Amino acid sequence: MARVTTLQLLEKHAAILALRCPLRRPARLRLVKSKANHGATYLCRDGFWLTITRGSRAVMLDTLIHEWAHARAWGRGKDHGDKWGIEYARAYRVVIGEDKA
Ligand SMILES: [Zn+2]
Repeated sequence: MARVTTLQLLEKHAAILALRCPLRRPARLRLVKSKANHGATYLCRDGFWLTITRGSRAVMLDTLIHEWAHARAWGRGKDHGDKWGIEYARAYRVVIGEDKA
């Protein structure tokens, strides 16, 4: 069986998030090297870009959830405010499989 790359794993989770927690614009993932942060979200003309800093798969998956919540809450409240927190919780539950509704 072919080895699943980290990018493939993250894209699989992003596809599930896109179905369960859809964004207003398309999202693309980009893996980067950074010592400044674990990730970032940008809104560009072609949609959201979620950058995820290379590291352990567990941290990168958590970063995907974190950045997805930023994209969901984009333009609504503070960076890590209530709206972001609600979206983070929702996305987290989708990824860990507790949100089957
Ligand atoms: Zn953040």
